Amino acid sequence: MPEAPKITQKPAEYNLELKNKKILQFIEDMTSNADEVQKTVLEEILSSNAHVEYLKKHGLDGRTDRDSFKNTMPVITYEDIQPFVERIANGDMSPILCSKPISEFLTSSGTSGGERKLMPTIEDELGRRSLLYSLLMPVMNQFVPGLDKGKGMYFLFIKSEAKTPGGLVARPVLTSYYKSSHFKDRPYDPYTNYTSPNETILCQDSYQSMYSQMLCGLCQHKEVLRVGAVFASGFIRAIKFLEKHWRLLCNDIRTGTIDSQITDPSVREAVMNILKADPKLADFIEAECSKDSWQGIITRLWPNTKYVDVIVTGTMSQYIPTLDFYSNGLPLVCTMYASSECYFGVNLNPLCKPSEVSYTLVPTMAYFEFLPIQRNNGVSNSISVPKTLNEKEQKELVDLVDVKLGQEYELVVTTYSGLFRYRVGDVLRVAGFKNKAPQFNFICRKNVVLSIDSDKTDEVELQHAVKNAVNHLLPFDATLAEYTSFADTTTIPGHYVLYWELSLNGNTPIHPSVFEDCCLTIEESLNSVYRQGRVCDKSIGPLEIKIVEPGTFDKLMDYAISLGASINQYKTPRCVKFAPIVELLNSRVVSCYFSPKCPKWFPGHKQWSNTD
Ligand code: AMP
Repeated sequence: MPEAPKITQKPAEYNLELKNKKILQFIEDMTSNADEVQKTVLEEILSSNAHVEYLKKHGLDGRTDRDSFKNTMPVITYEDIQPFVERIANGDMSPILCSKPISEFLTSSGTSGGERKLMPTIEDELGRRSLLYSLLMPVMNQFVPGLDKGKGMYFLFIKSEAKTPGGLVARPVLTSYYKSSHFKDRPYDPYTNYTSPNETILCQDSYQSMYSQMLCGLCQHKEVLRVGAVFASGFIRAIKFLEKHWRLLCNDIRTGTIDSQITDPSVREAVMNILKADPKLADFIEAECSKDSWQGIITRLWPNTKYVDVIVTGTMSQYIPTLDFYSNGLPLVCTMYASSECYFGVNLNPLCKPSEVSYTLVPTMAYFEFLPIQRNNGVSNSISVPKTLNEKEQKELVDLVDVKLGQEYELVVTTYSGLFRYRVGDVLRVAGFKNKAPQFNFICRKNVVLSIDSDKTDEVELQHAVKNAVNHLLPFDATLAEYTSFADTTTIPGHYVLYWELSLNGNTPIHPSVFEDCCLTIEESLNSVYRQGRVCDKSIGPLEIKIVEPGTFDKLMDYAISLGASINQYKTPRCVKFAPIVELLNSRVVSCYFSPKCPKWFPGHKQWSNTD
């Protein structure tokens, strides 16, 4: 993930080599002394927050040592602190979770009750996030030198924000970061030399933002040494945008003028500083974009690109084949692992294969603990609700330096901004160690069955949405015998597919519009992050229901049993990923229906009256 594209002048005393060296030394020191650093971090967090209501309530009594902390404080999920969060959102300024003033809420893509989770944050956290960003390029420089000699073309966006009833801003963590002075007014750094001017990133209108960033990227195509976005899905969306709009973009480059749909004056001004009439470049782009195949379009249009910087771990791995196609197999580089709760770690071996990516947690970011987990062959096919840990389970949590190679853990964090022993919901596996600090493969997000972009739909939500939708079938004496789902990323944007097997008792034919209503009802019932992706970001396509022949789910069971599933314990998986199973389902589809329009979505939370 990139840093701020601002400053242009190199100060006389600037020494890149020395700066890189210092940062690598910092990583050496932090990882060598991981346990001591963690101890200090916990002491700092607990002593500065000794008087907050939450710690007092649990009787920590100002103690700052690990044992007292572990014996006194419960391991929690969002639902446990939601009442405290709501009080803060409603304007209670007393030190509830954190002694420092809450500066804003970060709206997580994880949801609770269909709404985004609200993570309180404090001003200092911006510094910690900047620190993690500052580690990325010195690490990269060890593997790909010379990146200071050119530019990065990154597609970065802000999202809408809302105000809580108490007046605090609530927005996604990256929106908060890009709007902060840490990003906008950074001092000179050759690694923050980007093709997108700040104004294009900070433009609220997603079309204008994407168009202007693409235009600037094309104009400076020879200078581009690396390309990227935060997640793979975002980068693919940018390529799709180019596929749709290259004629307009070429026209602008040919004439040196900006299309009239770009109306934001600050965006126009920033782009005009870069755009020059260049008919030759326009001809070149036109020739490349009009070819039948878009294979290797990235290396063709940006010929000096060394790698694609996007997250392709976790559910984003579904986009690897598409990225390989567009980039002709350039390295896909995952640099960091972060969340709204806390920025966690960096990849110290960025040129490794996506399947081997591991993140080294940076011990200064927060106090980390790990809950050992056992999974059934990696397959979970029953509805799981977050369960409270009993005393024995709470005692099983281990510290950062005590995790075991090969073991899987759920990540638990204690942050500077008021989360104490908070279960993030991510499952990680220990892949190795950098000095004393473990390195983790990202395995999955607990319970999530479907994800296209930043949406995370769990099985309970899906079940609830399907239940609402099947009400449309009641007048036809039809019931849903079985269902499963699939995140289809062969379309751009990707979309959710539900496979439905019906049992029909009546004779009245079911009109296609009934199934379309079912699609829309499911979408209306899904969480706010999903609906935002559909409505606002257009990062998710219309939901599809595929009706399959009677007996299809029996065949699915037969297939699972042939692969070794136990007949007694077999339950229909509520989501499928394995290609032969998806093929089996697709071979038995009798009809398909799509959601006819977008579901409703508004910024902010249901209960807030909105600002933006
Ligand atoms: P949010 O709170 O909306 O910022 O989402 C944070 C979540 O995104 C994390 O808890 C992970 O589940 C996921 N995530 C972030 N970085 C990565 C990564 N590098 N690889 C896989 N998943 C990631």
